[in-house]
Amino acid sequence: TRTHDEEDLPHATKKTMADHLRRFENLFTLTPQRMRMIVEAFTETLEVGLNKPNQVVPMIPTFVFGWPTGSEKGDFLALDLGGTNLRVCLVTLQGEGKFEITQTKYRLTEEQKQDDGQKLFDFCAECLKTFVDTNSGDGPGQLKPGQILPLGFTFSYPCSQERIDHGELIRWTKGFGAPNTEGRDVAEMFKKSLAKFELPITLTALINDTTGTLVASHYVNPKTKIAVIFGTGCNAAYMEHVKDIGKIKSLGIDEDADMAINCEWGAFDSFEHEHLPRTKYDVVVDEASNKPGEQAFEKLISGRYLGEIFRVVVCELIDEGVLFLGQNTYKLEKPYIIDTAFLSLMESDPTDELLMIIGIFTHFFNIETTLAERQFFRALAKLIGRRAARMSACGIAAIVNKMGYIEEGCAVGADGSLYNKYPMFPERVHEGLVDIFGDKGRNIVTHHAEDGSGVGSAIIAAMTKIRKDAGLY
Ligand code: BGC
Ligand code: MG
Repeated sequence: TRTHDEEDLPHATKKTMADHLRRFENLFTLTPQRMRMIVEAFTETLEVGLNKPNQVVPMIPTFVFGWPTGSEKGDFLALDLGGTNLRVCLVTLQGEGKFEITQTKYRLTEEQKQDDGQKLFDFCAECLKTFVDTNSGDGPGQLKPGQILPLGFTFSYPCSQERIDHGELIRWTKGFGAPNTEGRDVAEMFKKSLAKFELPITLTALINDTTGTLVASHYVNPKTKIAVIFGTGCNAAYMEHVKDIGKIKSLGIDEDADMAINCEWGAFDSFEHEHLPRTKYDVVVDEASNKPGEQAFEKLISGRYLGEIFRVVVCELIDEGVLFLGQNTYKLEKPYIIDTAFLSLMESDPTDELLMIIGIFTHFFNIETTLAERQFFRALAKLIGRRAARMSACGIAAIVNKMGYIEEGCAVGADGSLYNKYPMFPERVHEGLVDIFGDKGRNIVTHHAEDGSGVGSAIIAAMTKIRKDAGLY
């Protein structure tokens, strides 16, 4: 193998790596006291967003009213345009909280994310067409010819909504940059694409993945009051009392109703950067991103950025002559080349020699590592992953505070690659909640959510149809 002892490399002795580590520990550790300060500012920000239009954290009214009953029934299509994939689902809701799902995934290319917006929606419609054609027929679970299908479109970017089948894109996030889309009604654009491909589909609801997750989680666990996504991006939704959404007073909506709010909390502390402890590495990642200043909270947490933060730290240590002396490290100079999944792997390496870390560095970057370096990488991954989880706890705590849920407690439906795959992420969130609230923090329990952008989207489409048929929209 291509490993060697640290004695061979005096620049990478255990002692110096440990010294460096101490420096990063100080930078990346969030104390309970600091967390409580963040929660306080965050809670205020949520209030402001509910009462004033066009705030940095926009607290978007979704026009999803209240919880599903479980009796929603029928065939629904769900289209999920996420950060990485496009997914088409056929969901059959059978009532009594039961459902069946058939789905196909399509990978999005980097070019598609930057190409003209209308083209992106045309691609969505094209995939839908293929899906509908493949799944049509007379058999059970197949779509009948002539059947007109209601569709829930999960569009996981911040959109301000005036109704449920409308959404003006505030800004792209997660590295998307398709021109001619920001500021426009993406539901309208998508309908154009549906018409172009002559699809027998009605766009019933445009939803955020968090809203879908909120509804789908509640469908199977009625204690759910909040939903969070920790994936490529990061965000939360929760159910709010209409009477407490000051900025929509003039709409004359029934004051006794409840409505889901898509917080878009990833934007917390954007532009002004007053509250979050950003390190210089976070600043570098932010400034080199396609949206400097934006999504400040998300950039400390979500899967799109954690690997990149790690890379920026490693590159600095290379420049300082601390790591990999004499080796060609150009492969590490490429932005986003270190996937957050590598951090997951580094943290979960079970071997004393840290063989998985050897594998990552030799295989992907053609670099040899010493044991001390590998131990450092694992510790650094842990610092970055732990900070992300503790930041996430701050966001959840802010909603809990705002709604006064700490005494009675609540369940939080959670989804996304970080939550589901990053080692110890849920445990670290829970630990963070205890650091914020003390023992009462244990009243807040996160659990893996039901497929929000598929099943949730279908349930919302069903709820919308029921309201429409009842003349409520
Ligand atoms: C988007 C949100 C989305 C989140 C998780 C963020 O970048 O702004 O709308 O819910 O990612 O997918
Ligand atoms: Mg998703």
